[in-house]
Amino acid sequence: MEMDQEKTTPDGKLPASRCCDFCEERRLEHVYTPVRSARGMEVYLCDRCGLVQSISTAVYPSRPMGSMSSDADRSSYRYTKDVISARYEAFFSQPADFSRVERVLDVGSNRGAFIQYMQDRWPGRSITAVEPDASVTGAYADLPNVDLKACRFEHAILPENFFDFSYCAHTLEHSASARGMLLGIRRALKLGGTLFLAVPNLVFHADVIEEVFIDPHTFHFKHALLRDFATSMGFDVAAAGGPKDADVVLLLRKNSAGGSKRTFCPADAKLPDAVRREIVDYRRTLVANRAALKHVVARIHEAAAVRKVVIWGGGRIFDALVRYGGLEPACLYRVVDKYLYRYEDRLHGLKLESPDALKAEDPGSILVYIASRDYADEIQAEAGRMGLSQFMKYGQESVPSPIWGTNQKEDR
Ligand SMILES: [Zn+2]
Repeated sequence: MEMDQEKTTPDGKLPASRCCDFCEERRLEHVYTPVRSARGMEVYLCDRCGLVQSISTAVYPSRPMGSMSSDADRSSYRYTKDVISARYEAFFSQPADFSRVERVLDVGSNRGAFIQYMQDRWPGRSITAVEPDASVTGAYADLPNVDLKACRFEHAILPENFFDFSYCAHTLEHSASARGMLLGIRRALKLGGTLFLAVPNLVFHADVIEEVFIDPHTFHFKHALLRDFATSMGFDVAAAGGPKDADVVLLLRKNSAGGSKRTFCPADAKLPDAVRREIVDYRRTLVANRAALKHVVARIHEAAAVRKVVIWGGGRIFDALVRYGGLEPACLYRVVDKYLYRYEDRLHGLKLESPDALKAEDPGSILVYIASRDYADEIQAEAGRMGLSQFMKYGQESVPSPIWGTNQKEDR
């Protein structure tokens, strides 16, 4: 079992070697201790550039079992990349011009969603895939046009100035060094080559109940900072998502700027103070929102007394409702989730099912509780196609309206 550990203390006494990954200065300030971290994570802010990093203080297994915990010990089932998000595809497919792309570098190829996309749309392209977890690469490891490097990115030997396009989605935030990974990808790309980069955006929601600083993430990027950093490292920004989107999404082009030693000059000198304040607020908000969950759960229990309540979304919000809100799982009729049921049979003692299980039900008898923030609209649309029309949405339970038995939409 691989182990990874670094000794440090919450009071800011870091090992002498420890610098900000972006600006390489020893100006890390301890700002937060995540709730129930299994890795003993401590969160540090660079007071020069505003980068937020988690540093482990405990021995931990590098690939723990999947967990939908609402706390820091959440770990991946590694299914989030089963499919290429339509939002991503719309973003990269047109400007990347795959008709002229011959060689592709897939960093963190996981279960092969992007490789599958390429096989379907642009078959025969030469793909180099980097994925350290050999247990998930079976679908593509032996394809003739795929060269799989089954190792961590920093150990992969890649040709220089070689690739036309690189795909790196939800990988950079897990890296040992984001600087090292970005520069490694840049080195492997041809001049003018394109990198599609997506990571979670460090945004704090007013209704947060899930620990943001989860164990698998060593970096927590804000849109503007990652964009500035990529620019400093010798990329042009060809396209960018919105600064408040759930993900930071960037389409980057390798340019010829700069020498081999690249230094990062942060553009926004006020960012570190702003991030520090946000994290102080977040800590208070998380505690307060978790305490208030008992009111949400009272509404669910009330509904469950007269209707069949189905939870749609087996993720972290559901876990928080049970763990912090006191939701009684036995009062629920079913729990469904579009993806998670493939990996987990039971959650909090209940059978976890595909949403297809609802097709046989009388839609009028069901009230769907949407336990999702980012996918709430998608879930409601999908449930609507099954004829379901009674919804409660996480974060909107206190809407003072006769939700029960009406078709009232909550997207006001
Ligand atoms: Zn820094």
